[in-house]
Amino acid sequence: MFYPLTILDFLDRAVSVFPDRTAVLDEPQAAGAWEPITYRELAQRARSLAASLDELGLPEGARVAVLSQNSARLLAALYGVSAFGRVLVPVNFRLTAAEVAYIVEHSGAEVLFVDPSLREVAAEVGCRHTFVLGEDDEHLWSNPAEPRPWAGDEGATATINYTSGTTARPKGVQLTHRNLWLNAVTFGWHLGVDESEVYLHTLPMFHANGWGMPYAITGFGGLHVVLRQVDGAEILRRVEEHGVTLMCAAPAVLAAVVEAARLWQGPVPGRNRVRVVVAGAPPPTRLIERIRDELGWEFIQIYGLTETSPFLTMSRMRDEWADLSGQEQARRLGRAGAPAIGVRVAIAEDGEVVVASNHNLDAYWRNPEETARAQEGGVFHTGDGGALSDGYLTIQDRKKDVIVTGGENVSSIEVEDVLAGHPAVREAAVIGIPDEKWGELVTALVVCSADVSEAELIAHCRERLAGYKTPKRIEFRSELARTATGKLQKFKLREDFWGGRTRQVN
Ligand code: ATP
Repeated sequence: MFYPLTILDFLDRAVSVFPDRTAVLDEPQAAGAWEPITYRELAQRARSLAASLDELGLPEGARVAVLSQNSARLLAALYGVSAFGRVLVPVNFRLTAAEVAYIVEHSGAEVLFVDPSLREVAAEVGCRHTFVLGEDDEHLWSNPAEPRPWAGDEGATATINYTSGTTARPKGVQLTHRNLWLNAVTFGWHLGVDESEVYLHTLPMFHANGWGMPYAITGFGGLHVVLRQVDGAEILRRVEEHGVTLMCAAPAVLAAVVEAARLWQGPVPGRNRVRVVVAGAPPPTRLIERIRDELGWEFIQIYGLTETSPFLTMSRMRDEWADLSGQEQARRLGRAGAPAIGVRVAIAEDGEVVVASNHNLDAYWRNPEETARAQEGGVFHTGDGGALSDGYLTIQDRKKDVIVTGGENVSSIEVEDVLAGHPAVREAAVIGIPDEKWGELVTALVVCSADVSEAELIAHCRERLAGYKTPKRIEFRSELARTATGKLQKFKLREDFWGGRTRQVN
């Protein structure tokens, strides 16, 4: 007999197996934070929210947007909206009012939940029903009515996630219940998640639905520790206080944790206990070594996109690498990894990574042209250049970030990795800037933690890279433009150099 896979399965299992276990610890200073709540209470709140949306007259398939930092309410909304047949639109809290308004309008959201700190943004957006979370919403979470039953359809859209904005116009990625279910179970299984897991939400839940962890941790009965604002020292404090075992983050966040650990009094918490999943951008080899050597945490890399829910490949220490040098182990861990069960990865003729899986997006919302383009030939086109060897995928660069200089292709990732290996360099971004003779000139923007000259950094690269890959120019910056998840926004970094000129992309 066919039984549809929906995200309600995760909550239902938690309630039937672990009803009295603490489900969520919210950050105490958050406005109107809930006390620790059990799985029974989490489910009750999700049901109340669904009943309240019924009372607002919202039909199945209606869109509900949430603009919030991580909070227990956001976690409850993931279930209260999607698990009862409506569509959640989690919005990046760093966007401007005009950008949020675009998403609310484009998705056709009829309700907007907003964190108190973002009230002014919401006022400008002017959605029909707006509720400030933790202030005028208590009735939504304590509604005694039962929600209208939903038959459950695994092909129905559960969320629409707008892409993170490393390209110009955000696209709405439609993910179905089946997509989210398979991503969460596969990810949880590969990571060995179980009921002893204490998961720290360092990754914003709006971003690719927290990579599926809000579902996986619930279904496997672990504990959600919610962190609103990401800060290296605060992450360490949480790891110590709550006995955290697992977290996910972009490389920039982990770099901040490693820096904070240097100032930490006493042994770094979580040694030989924490597993940290890194993705969203290529992690520098040096960072991988520091996570292992200075924190004593297990480094795991995954590769994926919002469009793939996101889990595609995983790189994790293997027994047969035990006799290799620490540096070689880090180099191997630096590859994006081997495909997850159910994921097929191939390299197209032009070098692009293409993937097939049951958690690839259904469509881009209201954008049939982009949907057809991205899924041409029955596979999803990632926009990343890569290579496969021994079943392992290496990401070479985003197609749009490859620098073409004098007819040669240069991977910005490769040059950044070399720069990040210099002890004075904290962050590096490598871009192509227009040049009459070479087409593009390899240029590095760096943030340093110690004094170093341009000539020294160029020499450091020249020793390790071919001449044409070596940056011709290095600029020192105090920070680099990043998205809310810590990804470099290279299109913004390029703007200063390209003015209005159009850049040719392969
Ligand atoms: P936009 O579509 O607006 O440009 P985005 O591409 O940043 O936003 P995401 O879905 O968040 O949206 O990011 C996916 C991209 O992140 C991948 O295509 C890849 O370029 C990069 N990425 C993710 N994981 C890794 C990894 N492990 N190594 C290298 N790059 C990665």
